[in-house]
Formats: sequence, structure tokens, C-alpha cells
Amino acid sequence: MASDDGGSIERIRTWMNTGPGRLVTIVLAVGVIGAAVGWAVMRATGGDASEGIREKGRKALWYCTSCKQSGEVRVSYDAAWPMDCPKCGKHTAVLAQKCRGRNCGKIIPAPGPGQFVRCPYCGKMYDMRQIPTGMPTPPRR
Ligand SMILES: [Zn+2]
Ligand SMILES: [Zn+2]
Repeated sequence: MASDDGGSIERIRTWMNTGPGRLVTIVLAVGVIGAAVGWAVMRATGGDASEGIREKGRKALWYCTSCKQSGEVRVSYDAAWPMDCPKCGKHTAVLAQKCRGRNCGKIIPAPGPGQFVRCPYCGKMYDMRQIPTGMPTPPRR
């Protein structure tokens, strides 16, 4: 005596091994395996790599508004500016950049969002008043 349940399982099994049913089964299986492998690879590499980059930080130029000296330091992505000046120790070292003016290349205070900076050496103007984000941002996960 064959029950209804046994009969429908048999029908599904037959459907999975023939024609379109078989194709759907294969596509589903490949999709699930692919997603699992992709997830594992992301966990194994992506997370660690971005963590390493965050810990290493980035190179940044600084310019001290007290002693007018400048240089390069490695800072974390969430470093707060201004920071303590490596030369005079005052809390007046601001984030800086190399001037992109022709034949200039001097280190000048970097214009933040909404700021206006004029290079004191060559006079090149950096107008960030119309640009909402001028700061480098850390990589997002
Ligand atoms: Zn200083
Ligand atoms: Zn300049």
C-alpha cells in the first residue's frame, strides 16, 4: 500500500533527475557552493587585509603653525588633527599636503572641507568651500 507522501517524494525524485528539474538542481547546488566558497574567502582574506591596513595607518604630511616646520609621519586613519608637533611639541601640527603649484611642491597646511587655503610660497589657491569632503577616508569593510 503506497501512501500519498511516498508517491510525492518519488515524483520529486523523478523530476530532479530529468529535464528542467535536473538543471534547476545543478544550478542551485553550484550557486550554494559558490556562495559558501566566496564567503569563506572573504572571511579569510578580506577582513584580515583591511585590518592590517588600518593598523599600519597611512603616511601623512604635517605642518606646524607654531614653529612653521613640516615633515612626514605615519598616523592611524582615525588620527585627530591638529596633533603634537614632532619638532616643538606644541599641539599645533595640522594635516598638510605638498603644494601642487608649478615648481612649488612646498609642504603647506591641507585645506579641509569648507576651507580656503592660499600657498604662502607660490600663491596657488585651494578652494574647498564648494567640495563637501576633502579628507582621505579609511577603507570601508
Ligand atoms: Zn612645531
Ligand atoms: Zn605653492
